[in-house]
Amino acid sequence: MFSSPLHTSFTLGDTVNRNMDSTQQISFTPQDHVHMTHARRQAQKSLRFAEVPVGAIIVTADGAIVGAGYNRVEKKQSQLEHAEIQALRKAAKAIGGWRLDQCTLYVTLEPCMMCLGAALLSRVKKIIYGAPSNLFGISMLQEKLPPVYQAHTIILQGLQEAECSDMLKHFFLKIRSKKEASREQNQ
Ligand SMILES: [Zn+2]
Repeated sequence: MFSSPLHTSFTLGDTVNRNMDSTQQISFTPQDHVHMTHARRQAQKSLRFAEVPVGAIIVTADGAIVGAGYNRVEKKQSQLEHAEIQALRKAAKAIGGWRLDQCTLYVTLEPCMMCLGAALLSRVKKIIYGAPSNLFGISMLQEKLPPVYQAHTIILQGLQEAECSDMLKHFFLKIRSKKEASREQNQ
């Protein structure tokens, strides 16, 4: 139950440890699942404001949640309101410093360039995300990051991927059917 087959893992900036073997099986721990479930709960909050459901939490080595956030781009009319940025900001405040090198970031959707940059500069130890993002995701950047960003951050994908993807799919399906309904009404 707690393993997720056929997902890639890689370690940014660490050519020795980088593992691009797409057949590698990642075993996530029960705690990883608990934390991703919390991140999904955060994502659910985005739905209140008809936002794309994305949620993130930051957890210390002891398992304490020190930061959480959900997508609020539309409500706040700012691209700085991504779930990860809010979680990073809160974690830094809770810890009393910006270095989050003992922390793991759990996020329901593959981080964008901005959030990856912020997480790497914050020296987050590990990033674990659920659903892949073909539009904004960072996978395509993994070989191209400048050295300053190359912290030894481990990035793992695919934790509760189906649940995280389904949440997004339902959201976009609902938007589409609403648009179609209003188009039919106007005809
Ligand atoms: Zn982002």
